[in-house]
Amino acid sequence: MSDSSDAGDPGTDTLRTPIVAVLGHVDHGKTSLLDKVRGSAVIEGEAGAITQHIGATAVPLDVISDIAGSLVDPTDFDLPGLLFIDTPGHHSFTTLRSRGGALADIAILVVDVNDGFQPQTIEALDILKRTQTPFVVAANKVDTLPGWNPVEDAPIQQSMETQSDRVQQQLNQELYEIVGELSDHGFSADMYWQVRNFQQNVGVVPVSAMTGEGVPDLLTVMMGLAQRYMKEEMQVDVGGPGVGTVLEVKEEKGFGTTVDIVLYDGTIRADDVIVVGGENNPIVTEVRALLQPRPLAEIRTESRFEQVDEVMAAAGIKVAAPDLDEAMSGAPIRVVRDRPVEEVEREVRSELAEIAVETAEEGVVVKADTLGSLEAMANALEEAEIPIVRAEVGAVAPRDVSVASTADEDTHKTILAFNVDVLDDARRRIEESDVKVFESDVIYQLVEEYDEYVEEIEREQQ
Ligand code: GDP
Repeated sequence: MSDSSDAGDPGTDTLRTPIVAVLGHVDHGKTSLLDKVRGSAVIEGEAGAITQHIGATAVPLDVISDIAGSLVDPTDFDLPGLLFIDTPGHHSFTTLRSRGGALADIAILVVDVNDGFQPQTIEALDILKRTQTPFVVAANKVDTLPGWNPVEDAPIQQSMETQSDRVQQQLNQELYEIVGELSDHGFSADMYWQVRNFQQNVGVVPVSAMTGEGVPDLLTVMMGLAQRYMKEEMQVDVGGPGVGTVLEVKEEKGFGTTVDIVLYDGTIRADDVIVVGGENNPIVTEVRALLQPRPLAEIRTESRFEQVDEVMAAAGIKVAAPDLDEAMSGAPIRVVRDRPVEEVEREVRSELAEIAVETAEEGVVVKADTLGSLEAMANALEEAEIPIVRAEVGAVAPRDVSVASTADEDTHKTILAFNVDVLDDARRRIEESDVKVFESDVIYQLVEEYDEYVEEIEREQQ
């Protein structure tokens, strides 16, 4: 293990691994594209090249350059690789926030070339705009164009040369529609081979998650974007005390309650004191173990995990520590090192407060599974001019029904439940009362259903 003294300063010229999120409308191919990148990386890298993480997959630079072939010269980059968040979709994107906004540094927006822009594509674009996250568009499923002649894993221009004129024309037409949609939403965009600065212009990369065509190009563009962005925008000191975001709070046999985190800054060590955002107050505790998944081939009966002494950002890791029961998904986690614990507690408290939702005297009750999604819901409702009377993380409980039932207006006797359960007791109370509950894991659906409900009530009242 390397000697990582606190005085060391690897932060000035070591760029940390950029964190990449994959967004897009349902069924446009987010999961398939992630699987393809991971699959190609496993093949190219043989055993062991891909580092196992919790909630994320690290693809090192040399593996990327193997996949991208002549498109990537590894000596052009001083990034260690890319860390892909394993759960695609903007739910995880909004849930996983860091101090400044989104946890992901850069993103891939997946758009089905045949299906074009859909509601969740637009929702994702709004989120990317709001969080100022640089992204590229993967125009996916090019292989489904009629007459397409697949060339497995080829760079897209090589593949396009082998297509008939008609297929090429068709593809170009679909791609320009996507470019047009992007510009309608305020983004200057072009085919990626026309783009010089991917931070200023959104590059559109035709790909197929099925055949792997265009994947070399996509990784190349991502590396170019990441390199520029990390150099210009990111001030990170990978040697400093760790800062991260809680993905999930989980019981783990033999370890009690653990938190899966993505560390986006600094290091965390097996004996660190940490502060974790909790349901009521920041939790101060001490790391008992840092756990990494064992490579599949090595899993024996005793444990899926191996313990490590230290992890450097960016990484996905499981932290076992006492008193984590009240830890919250989406909450910050910070290592206390070389400064008073109270100071770190204050920081965690203020990070949590930033997410506090503005509530009104009258309005709907909102429940969501994480702080980030609660915040995303609050933003969407504010935009739709729907007031909120109460907003909390967690399952719909009887108390929520009580609050909703006391509303003066019928339209406010409503609970919007984003990706959470309705407890049995609460369900019973809802059935006995005139409170209405809408459940979904898609924000716009909740807003839409609520709007329709309001219209219906207004019609009835006329
Ligand atoms: P997600 O909901 O965005 O994660 O989409 P999925 O990755 O689950 O893909 C939805 C469907 O589209 C699945 O049946 C995939 O096999 C299919 N699919 C995804 N990408 C491609 C592609 O590039 N070509 C083809 N032909 N099918 C694809």
